[in-house]
Amino acid sequence: MKKIRVYEAAKEFHVSSEALLETLRGLGVEVKSHMSSIDDDVVARLKQKFNKDVEAAREEMARVKEKEAARVRAAAAAAAAAAPPAPPRPSQPRPASAPQAGAHAPRPAQPSRPGGPPRPQGPSSQRPGGPSGSPRPGGGGPGGPRPGFGGPQAGGPQRGPARGGRLRGAKKKKRVVDERLVAENVKRTLASLDAGARGHAKHRRERGEGTAVEEDAKVLQVTEFITVADLAGQMEVKPQEVIAACMRLGVMVTINRRLDKDTIEAVADEFGYGVEFVSEYSTEAVEEAEDVPADTTPRAPVVTVMGHVDHGKTTLLDYIRRASVAAGETGGITQHISAYSASVNGKPITFLDTPGHEAFTSMRARGAQVTDIVVLVVAADDRVMPQTIEAIDHARAAGVPIIVAINKVDLPVARPDLVMADLTKHKLVAEEYGGDTIMVPVSAKKGTGVERLLEMILLKAEMMELKANPDRRGKGTVVEARKEPGRGTVVAVLVQNGTVRVGDAFVAGTQYGKVRALTSRRGDRISEAGPSVPVEITGFSGVPSAGDTFQVLADEREAREIATKRHQLQREQEQRAFHHLTLADISQRVKEGGAAELRLIIKADVDGSAEALSDHLGRLGSDEVKLRIIHSGVGNISESDVLLAAASDAVILGFRVPVESSARSAAAREKVDVRGYEIIYKAEEDIKAAMSGLLKPEIRETILGRAEVRKVFHLSKSGSVAGCFVASGNILRNAKARLMRGGASVFDGRVGALKRFKDDVREVATGYECGITLEGYSDYREGDIIEAYELEEVARTLA
Ligand code: GDP
Repeated sequence: MKKIRVYEAAKEFHVSSEALLETLRGLGVEVKSHMSSIDDDVVARLKQKFNKDVEAAREEMARVKEKEAARVRAAAAAAAAAAPPAPPRPSQPRPASAPQAGAHAPRPAQPSRPGGPPRPQGPSSQRPGGPSGSPRPGGGGPGGPRPGFGGPQAGGPQRGPARGGRLRGAKKKKRVVDERLVAENVKRTLASLDAGARGHAKHRRERGEGTAVEEDAKVLQVTEFITVADLAGQMEVKPQEVIAACMRLGVMVTINRRLDKDTIEAVADEFGYGVEFVSEYSTEAVEEAEDVPADTTPRAPVVTVMGHVDHGKTTLLDYIRRASVAAGETGGITQHISAYSASVNGKPITFLDTPGHEAFTSMRARGAQVTDIVVLVVAADDRVMPQTIEAIDHARAAGVPIIVAINKVDLPVARPDLVMADLTKHKLVAEEYGGDTIMVPVSAKKGTGVERLLEMILLKAEMMELKANPDRRGKGTVVEARKEPGRGTVVAVLVQNGTVRVGDAFVAGTQYGKVRALTSRRGDRISEAGPSVPVEITGFSGVPSAGDTFQVLADEREAREIATKRHQLQREQEQRAFHHLTLADISQRVKEGGAAELRLIIKADVDGSAEALSDHLGRLGSDEVKLRIIHSGVGNISESDVLLAAASDAVILGFRVPVESSARSAAAREKVDVRGYEIIYKAEEDIKAAMSGLLKPEIRETILGRAEVRKVFHLSKSGSVAGCFVASGNILRNAKARLMRGGASVFDGRVGALKRFKDDVREVATGYECGITLEGYSDYREGDIIEAYELEEVARTLA
């Protein structure tokens, strides 16, 4: 009996392996994974189940194929007629640098930039045509090979190009995306602007100047969500070939459709290319020149104190802080600043005042490496404990040298020798024992040995030759951010290179601004802060996150632009990673140059209404928005309807029919938009609204803040109040707001009342609790998220 693997069958049926696994389980077939084998007769049963839909899908594929072929033929003809040979790019305004379909030009080395401005704004380099100014699709970016960000990534289950097994997982992971991975991905992308500081700058600069060519011509440098057309251009093949490859993978696409990571990898593999993903930000990133040694001067080391709980981290930090104050610093100590400088013999050391490896590692996870030296505190009345080992591992993973402070030596029971012996097992060998780890016995309580510890830190720092260039635009990392009454957003930044000055324009994560005031850790207003100096900065547009890179830019306009793009990209990535096309997305999709095609699956209670609905809706299409009914039938909305919708990125309209429960869960899983109607014209109205939305001015949404519902209070008169904690941003009275439950929006309206205790307030900031009511809604539940947002109309420019 012939057997085939699940993923192969999935390919046959144009569904994801995961969906097929579910279906198989539904049929009572025992299967473990996409690599499991299934028999012929099972395939036959599947065939029966899918037959109808597959037919519809096949027809659709043929139609798409023919249409694209026709379109490309027409475009090629048009291009041939025009001179000089313009890229055959039908109606899609794109960055000029993107290579084009069919144009068998060599792979584009980066175009050199006239005058080398930091961003491609030379006369020949047009801005992305989309009115949204949405992040540029790949193909033109000067993102160099960036081992930290591209390719098979550390930490993520990225496969390399799966040669000879290209389908492996390609579809499986496509729709069902691990939220954590997405979040990491966003973080990584956000952090990419910072890449220059970590050794990629040179590389990037070379590429930016167009002097470097691909080291390996078979590896594509692409951004995630590159379009079919751009991917084809990069591989120097026709877009139809890419479309066909996608179809073989069970993904139906149009030429302007953006592809997700897995699909890009799988398609590239078919054409014999490996893929290295670069961040879209790199195209917008601030080009960074590397410092020449002559420009750099020694800087203070930045130290993080780690160790097991109760071993004395806080006591040590406190002692050092107090000692440095006693040693002559005057003025009030700002309570909040989460980094401070101590000095020994006039030489400064910067301490990050966040003991513990969680803070250290969470910063690192965000791509921020701020620590030069880890001081590992081990109590001499105790031994090496689990968190000691963890701290060692974390420091090692970050490649940060460790200095051991053997603490509590004032205690009679102290046994520093045992601690040292213990540490040897973890490859930290004291100099006395022939190793090279500095170990200093101290008493954080009494202060014994602390000075020596500080001296050792400085010695180590000297050996490390820590340097920076104070004569360039400032750059650093956000260590802590909070809202303060009267001061607004106050952000502790550790400057890592260059100098930050009052009045500087900057970007930090998705926030931007102009430095209004700089405050030293003593609370003094200062006018500038150089490398390794912790400083509090005000003048932010909103609250950034710890770990964000703070970067001074030439002007505020640029800063705002970058922040806005990051914000958009973040949203876009979230959206793309999480769901299929919804009616609401249609407008967004068009703006991005995506498919202006609305695909529908119609299910109705009786044949007559299915027909009527298809007929009605089918006529709504316009030149700009093609409307395509890929399937219309009678009966409940079933799982296979959802799978078909998922495979073809369609929206399901049900007319007086229930959604089967398996379909409901499949829709939730595959994030398919399923809508039910009782009256035909309502459906028609929605579709029209979505379609006319395409022609309306673009609305840009900004999230103002997110609050978690922690407790629901039922009031007799005025309904319920959601007792909330503002987790990020601000919640504003009267702001537009939606209620999210389990990742889906269940209500969209406005913030009605906003209370702090008994008082009505206008605004509640991050970290505060408040009572929120949404106008016209009262069914709050614990765990709901209230998201306040703002819509901004942006004029639509017709391309
Ligand atoms: P952390 O959890 O690592 O931050 O540890 P703490 O700094 O909170 O210290 C834990 C306990 O150990 C506190 O009761 C301190 O007073 C005490 N402690 C810290 N350092 C010393 C020291 O050098 N000698 C003595 N005798 N006690 C200390």
